[in-house]
Amino acid sequence: MILLDRVTKTYTRKKTDALYRINLHVEPKEFVIVVGPSGAGKSTLLKLLTREEKPTTGKIIVGGIDYEHLKEKEIPTLRRKIGVVFQDFKLLPNKTVFENVAFALEIAGYSNREIRHTVPKVLNIVGLKGKENNYPRELSGGETQRVAIARAVVRQPKILIADEPTGNLDPKHAWDVIKVLEKINKYGTTVLLTTHNQEIVNKLKRRVVTIKDGKIVSDKASGGYEI
Ligand code: ADP
Repeated sequence: MILLDRVTKTYTRKKTDALYRINLHVEPKEFVIVVGPSGAGKSTLLKLLTREEKPTTGKIIVGGIDYEHLKEKEIPTLRRKIGVVFQDFKLLPNKTVFENVAFALEIAGYSNREIRHTVPKVLNIVGLKGKENNYPRELSGGETQRVAIARAVVRQPKILIADEPTGNLDPKHAWDVIKVLEKINKYGTTVLLTTHNQEIVNKLKRRVVTIKDGKIVSDKASGGYEI
């Protein structure tokens, strides 16, 4: 599903590699936590997957798409396979919860009927039933992040990338967000989560990939054994 083969990324004007000969294989429906100190290369890894950045060398295949042969016109198809959630939620302040999620479908050309059918289902999954008509400013940080997750998964991507989604949240709200990610994973979406929160890593008991200085220094399955 996700395959990185000896992937190196060197940003221009940087002497050191942001990532150096990374090998990573993620199966469909896996839940993988990516950890590592600031500057280790975590965001770079995620940006390579979403095609915001291109590798300097190495091979990337996601959902059967070989990035080397990816044509401009195929990028929307790729982006549909990958939902992304950031630390700063990036919701539209003048749209309600319902409208924020609906917007992701509108721009993709879904009909009003499909939107009315799909949005409530997704809001239910993330635990926001009853908040449809609220504006982002009326929500807690955890609720806001769950809207962002709803928006990221409403088109049913195969992969959900969550880059520090709990970074701005207190422990209770952070865990609510993590539980939503687990639920989405249970429905069959591959989840890639980056976090600095050791408590979340310990509690989740999932595969943990540790990156340091652009290299994978450990890759441990939920049982703690090296992959
Ligand atoms: P992390 O997400 O683990 O904090 P990053 O992937 O953001 O790490 O950064 C890895 C390295 O690449 C760092 O040395 C950072 O300074 C560098 N870097 C990240 N983005 C850019 C960029 N757009 N241009 C130049 N250097 C960058």
